Amino acid sequence: MGESSGLRPAASLGAPDRITAGFLTGWIREFSELMQTHRDRLNALDAAIGDADHGTNLARGFAVVAAGLDQAPDGPGNLLAQVGRTVVGSVGGAAGPLFGTFFLRLGDAIGNDPELDCRDFTAGLRAGLGGIVARGSAEPGDKTLYDALAPGIEAFAAAAAGLYDLPEVFTAGRLGAERGRDATIDMLARKGRASYLGERSVGHQDPGATSAALLFTAGCRRLSA
Ligand code: ADP
Ligand code: MG
Repeated sequence: MGESSGLRPAASLGAPDRITAGFLTGWIREFSELMQTHRDRLNALDAAIGDADHGTNLARGFAVVAAGLDQAPDGPGNLLAQVGRTVVGSVGGAAGPLFGTFFLRLGDAIGNDPELDCRDFTAGLRAGLGGIVARGSAEPGDKTLYDALAPGIEAFAAAAAGLYDLPEVFTAGRLGAERGRDATIDMLARKGRASYLGERSVGHQDPGATSAALLFTAGCRRLSA
């Protein structure tokens, strides 16, 4: 199956199966737009278990990121490293260093070959997640963005192992991340501001898990454009 079959369904259908700096630029632009349209919803989720600024932090910071994309350096890795630096410098709250580290590690891992496939990108996503854990010590079930990102990346990886169709791989990642996001509702927060609420954090969807799932939505939107 998959790799060993030698079949490349995406290529035969003419779908894009390679990740380029152009694709990544579009991905980040879509994510920035989603942060603007979901700002109030993310703030409302954060109001329930935090300080109501998660949407504002991301919307403001990613507007700066998007404005800098036209002057991005060559190469997929360099592009995402610039995104990571800008996120660290422009996104406030806990989300800034966490999302920023994710993009910095992802950029570092994928390097600057002009094209990479889903599996190389999977390794980069895992490196990015490793950066988030190194920075914030999140563990599964702590009710953080990790709980959407980790299952999203694993679903992405599983799909990438058997498929070459980038839209399908991103869709698998989105569905995995959305399941993880929804599962945060029943979790008790053990990291960040929401952890101050203890039992009262149960019953609310984590704002960071909600924005993290939108990373996959942004990829799907870019690919269906
Ligand atoms: P702040 O809590 O500083 O206001 P934000 O509102 O921007 O920051 O982000 C809150 C989100 O950050 C939470 O919903 C959670 O998903 C995530 N988060 C907080 N602490 C951690 C951590 N240690 N590791 C991973 N994610 C975390
Ligand atoms: Mg907040």
